[in-house]
Amino acid sequence: MFATRVRRLWGGLVLVPVLVPVLVPVLVLAAALSGGGASAAGPARLALVEASAWGAHWIELELPRPMPWRAFVADGPPRLIVDLGTESLAAPDVPAAGAVRPLRAGRLAAGWSRLVLALDRPLTVAHAALSEGRLAIELAPAGRGGFADAARLAPGHAAPARAAPPDAAARGRARIVLDPGHGGVDPGATRGDVREKDIALALGLEFAALLEATGRYEVLLTRRDDRFLLLDDRVAFARATDAALFLSLHTNTVTEGKASGAAIYAPSQIASDPASARVALLENRSDQRAGLPGRPEQDDVTLTLFDMERPATEARARIAAQRIVAALVASSRAIRSRPLRAADFRVLRAPDMPSLLLELGFLSDPGDLARMQSPEWRAEVGRALIRALDEWREADEDFLALMRR
Ligand SMILES: [Zn+2]
Repeated sequence: MFATRVRRLWGGLVLVPVLVPVLVPVLVLAAALSGGGASAAGPARLALVEASAWGAHWIELELPRPMPWRAFVADGPPRLIVDLGTESLAAPDVPAAGAVRPLRAGRLAAGWSRLVLALDRPLTVAHAALSEGRLAIELAPAGRGGFADAARLAPGHAAPARAAPPDAAARGRARIVLDPGHGGVDPGATRGDVREKDIALALGLEFAALLEATGRYEVLLTRRDDRFLLLDDRVAFARATDAALFLSLHTNTVTEGKASGAAIYAPSQIASDPASARVALLENRSDQRAGLPGRPEQDDVTLTLFDMERPATEARARIAAQRIVAALVASSRAIRSRPLRAADFRVLRAPDMPSLLLELGFLSDPGDLARMQSPEWRAEVGRALIRALDEWREADEDFLALMRR
């Protein structure tokens, strides 16, 4: 039966038809959801099946009902973490066997529980999918560096969600996700040999180093090299890492008329002006520009769950945007006439994570072009952004404290 299920779930993998006949379930276990917060549906059962063959490894969690989830690995020691959208969860009680051993389970936050499983060696989440109440997670061996990277990147984050109270990270270093726009087959805007994707990556890497050097920020990048990423995957990545702020980095260009200077965009379904609406429309076509079919909007249960957080999240993003504009104005004259803008960018649609898009300048403006290619100028922008983020963290803590009252 398990083999049948695996064939259906993993039928897309070329190797599976060969692997299925030799799959050996190494342990089968079941645990009841703890009674206290059990759903009205009664004592639902959570079953875990582990299977391995030829170095490949799978686990399957049978969920009592469809629920939001995310799965990722963590380092020191290697662990697999599965967060589930349920009020209570009991750790499956099993003998130590296989590569995956349940360690503990418990409530994480309102509506969320966490299952922590020990890994006997560095394994990463190669693929994860929820189908018909079963969460299947394929684990792949990882080298030492590969595992550390995966632990930082938290892969396998379909339908991820905030895992801790928003202010948890702020007590220590604030986690910021920088998102250099475009990459790989999608160059973004171009002007002669100059490509938006290269400027965005340079700014991202340099700004990350500056932020990390302060000791006040932990910075994760959606990409560290010239690779293509889907817009939704950038957002999913940032949400899975529980980032305090998501900052997407871009440049602009115009084919007619004159425009120059930096601008910051906050999320809003209604654009602040027609030009901003056009920019969002162009940026949202990134996936198609890469020759990939546009994916439908994510309308999973997770996003719906968090929708009521959206107004507060957008307010928090606007507070950050105001600080960034003030800092950029104070440090540079290369600012647009209306630097604080809003539009419906696809990368700014996380309902529970403040998200902003920084447009550094116009490739079509010779002054902007020269500045954006200058590491010194980018460092100046970076220092201004640090001042802005320092101020924002204080303002954000005040805002969140007010929200909790
Ligand atoms: Zn762009």
